[in-house]
Amino acid sequence: MKMISTADGMSRWALEARKDGKKIALVPTMGGLHEGHLALVREAKKQADLTVVSLFVNPAQFNDASDYERYPREIESDLKKCGAAGVDVVFAPEKDDIYPPGETPEAISLPAVAKVLEGPLRPGHFEGVVQVVARLFRIVRPHVAVFGMKDYQQVRVIEEMVIERGSDVKIVRVPTVRSREGLALSSRNGRLSREGLKKALLISKTLKAAQHLVSQGERHTKEVLAKLRKGLSCEEDIRIDYLKIVDARTLEEVAVISEPALIAVAALVEGVRLIDNCVLSVI
Ligand code: AMP
Repeated sequence: MKMISTADGMSRWALEARKDGKKIALVPTMGGLHEGHLALVREAKKQADLTVVSLFVNPAQFNDASDYERYPREIESDLKKCGAAGVDVVFAPEKDDIYPPGETPEAISLPAVAKVLEGPLRPGHFEGVVQVVARLFRIVRPHVAVFGMKDYQQVRVIEEMVIERGSDVKIVRVPTVRSREGLALSSRNGRLSREGLKKALLISKTLKAAQHLVSQGERHTKEVLAKLRKGLSCEEDIRIDYLKIVDARTLEEVAVISEPALIAVAALVEGVRLIDNCVLSVI
């Protein structure tokens, strides 16, 4: 496995690989790798000849400076995990490589899917995501880029970005990887106490309960959410930022549930902000 830490070095490698007729898959991450990220790597390896994992904690997408500071940075163990997973290149650039000092960042016009759910609550977040993904695409020149459905809205934003820019990068979605008990794996889970981890299970249980209600025939969003909120109100230590049922394509709220629909939640447990979602199957 190769480790490349400069944008120039990465671009040169990508150019050579393309000249050799190789297909490149990119898995963009902020490090702190877990099984969720490794599922993305496995999919990338199926999709292409060469897999690049980027490790870059992107300052532009944090709207909270202390969240950025506290974000886990575990390069040694990340490298080991990438090596074991059969990654070809780890691209771990410095901040100045992605955002050269003095360079004015391009003005980003966000698609409508970025303006709901997380959008209003995390000002600047999706601008930062689009900014970094566009830069990574320019440097790594992937044929395929793999994203997790754990960050469903992020995937939709990237899918729209690619369409709007006429980019030929194929975007591949990978389902959320969960703990045995159901908690969506996240680099942030490491900041929870054992007690907090237990409390956080209520998030995925709520999503499951939503699917159960829909499977039983309930189609009215209002009814589903009212029942779910009752279940959530017994846990005082979870603060819900939002719990919404939306059209899975536009991410606009819906009154009546029909496919494709998504239930999305953001909640704070012990001060750690967690997000999760579930595509609702309407049978
Ligand atoms: P992050 O490092 O948290 O920015 O995530 C990098 C990529 O891994 C994103 O595409 C995430 O959606 C994806 N990811 C994070 N957690 C999971 C998970 N539990 N299951 C599947 N994909 C995930």
